[in-house]
Amino acid sequence: MMNADLHCHSTVSDGHLAPAEVAARAHAGGVTLWSLTDHDQLGGQREAREAAQALGMAYLDGVEISVTWAGRTVHIVGLNVDAENQALIDGLAATRSGRQARGEAIGEALAEIGIQGAYEGALHYVNDPAMISRTHFARYLVDKGYAESTSDVFSKYLGDGKPGYVGHRWSKLADAMKWIKGAGGEAVIAHPGRYDFSPVEFAAFFDEFIQLGGRAIEVVTGSHTPDQYREYAEVARRYGFLASRGSDFHAAGEGRIDLGQLPPLPADLKPVWECLV
Ligand code: AMP
Ligand code: MN
Ligand code: MN
Ligand code: MN
Repeated sequence: MMNADLHCHSTVSDGHLAPAEVAARAHAGGVTLWSLTDHDQLGGQREAREAAQALGMAYLDGVEISVTWAGRTVHIVGLNVDAENQALIDGLAATRSGRQARGEAIGEALAEIGIQGAYEGALHYVNDPAMISRTHFARYLVDKGYAESTSDVFSKYLGDGKPGYVGHRWSKLADAMKWIKGAGGEAVIAHPGRYDFSPVEFAAFFDEFIQLGGRAIEVVTGSHTPDQYREYAEVARRYGFLASRGSDFHAAGEGRIDLGQLPPLPADLKPVWECLV
């Protein structure tokens, strides 16, 4: 049986392992079809693809795009994209271009509650300063003893409405969809269970995604609880979405689940990868 893990991160964005190390970990975890989906950046694709090939794992080029929809942040995964597509490359560069200034603003916001030097501290955890993310701040704050875990950091400091939260405009949904589809890829709504939407907002979001050519949604992800697997399986049935599965692995000891370890998709759902491989 196919063990597909189509969502995870490397040091190219906010993961802790280099792309080839993530490949080795996926393979060790039993993954047979893999995609590395760094945030707003394709820089790890070649290394990931070559490592997957060397290990005999099927591979899909991937990316996770940060989007602002109706004033809220959502993530759209693009699978089986052409990593050489110029419009996609340019769109991702524009999407990530505000990260450095936002990182500085997060540092200032944390300084106001007495946490000094967090931006400089977080930079030590980043490969490329242009890719600085809240995850890097979270790792720094855990190591400095401000919280027990990275998820604690989000509840106390970095989540929406918390003292270190700095609002940000990412890409438009229509643009992200255009870039993914223009690069021959399939767009997937990432971890819908993480969005704090009302039922009316969810309906509007799903309708707009479909209108823009979206067909797939993550059902079984490391960002969902088992109850949410069931909830979004039901959404997939109701909207006729293809279903995806991915750990959203970032680092050992962070997050709920390791590469390849999620339960399978409910058998009646159509896996997104059946159209892609
Ligand atoms: P950013 O793109 O800089 O806003 O950072 C978002 C990243 O923070 C996500 O991709 C996750 O890796 C991480 N993240 C978001 N919410 C949480 C949470 N509640 N617990 C742990 N990590 C989180
Ligand atoms: Mn992340
Ligand atoms: Mn995400
Ligand atoms: Mn992710």
